[in-house]
Amino acid sequence: MNLRIIQLMTLALWSMAVLALPCRAGSLDDYYLQQFGETAGAPLKAVSELSTEPLHPHCGMPLKRDLRRDWDKLEPATQTILAKQLAAPVLENEATLTWGHFVIHYATTGIDAPTPTLPYTVATWVQQVATTFESAYTAYQSTYGYRPPPVVPYHVYLRSLASLKIYGQTTSLAPVPSVGFPNAYSSYIEIDKDFTNAIYTKIPVLYTPLQSLQITSAHEFHHAVQFGYNYFFEKWYAEATSTWYEGELYPAVGQNYVYVHPGLSTVHVGWIWRWMPMPLPPAPATAAGSSTVT
Ligand SMILES: [Zn+2]
Repeated sequence: MNLRIIQLMTLALWSMAVLALPCRAGSLDDYYLQQFGETAGAPLKAVSELSTEPLHPHCGMPLKRDLRRDWDKLEPATQTILAKQLAAPVLENEATLTWGHFVIHYATTGIDAPTPTLPYTVATWVQQVATTFESAYTAYQSTYGYRPPPVVPYHVYLRSLASLKIYGQTTSLAPVPSVGFPNAYSSYIEIDKDFTNAIYTKIPVLYTPLQSLQITSAHEFHHAVQFGYNYFFEKWYAEATSTWYEGELYPAVGQNYVYVHPGLSTVHVGWIWRWMPMPLPPAPATAAGSSTVT
């Protein structure tokens, strides 16, 4: 069987298992309040109940999509608390860069303000973000033939996401029905402000900020494409295909995903662990010690 098919099937099986877990939680209100760190005295827990530290950063789309899906089932008080999770971010002293099909929003002061590592300045990093997303746009439309998201320019927000242990998240905004696409939704993307936190750059992650930006733009913008077709997609399939295209757009980065469970070591599926909100199995000592990113 083709190796890439084996990879996709394996990811799909893991995705289906993990994404089904939240249903085990108590009341829906308590579940979402806890997941978004809004339960009094409870630490932020934006990952599955089975998670243990340390966690690799992953994608925040599934949780936010579930929140919108279940919104009408929540108590008004819960909706009041969690409304900010579905609204576009408000950044401190926000500045924007409009480039191609994108508007990049970033804070100029406060915790969300980018502090990129050299050789980047804030200005050149924000430009890099815009250029990288534009590359994803071009690839999905021109190379792979997808229709673009229903609303452009598309808005991308830089935020400090390391504390949430996520690379990025795509959140649906509003229905934008059209002929042939009655369930299309607009959306927006949040990505980490600069990917310089150790959870993105240190063992066992080993990505440069640019590499994290590349794979995150490929992954999250594919979610934007998915929302543009049909909001009611299957989460496991959305995660599997977004991760798949990350490797399609940036195969050189994918070649360095070496943190594979020993039982899967004959199939190169290390990229599974980066996006799935579940604990990592111990990485082989030899793999961790010899891994590099070039
Ligand atoms: Zn995702």
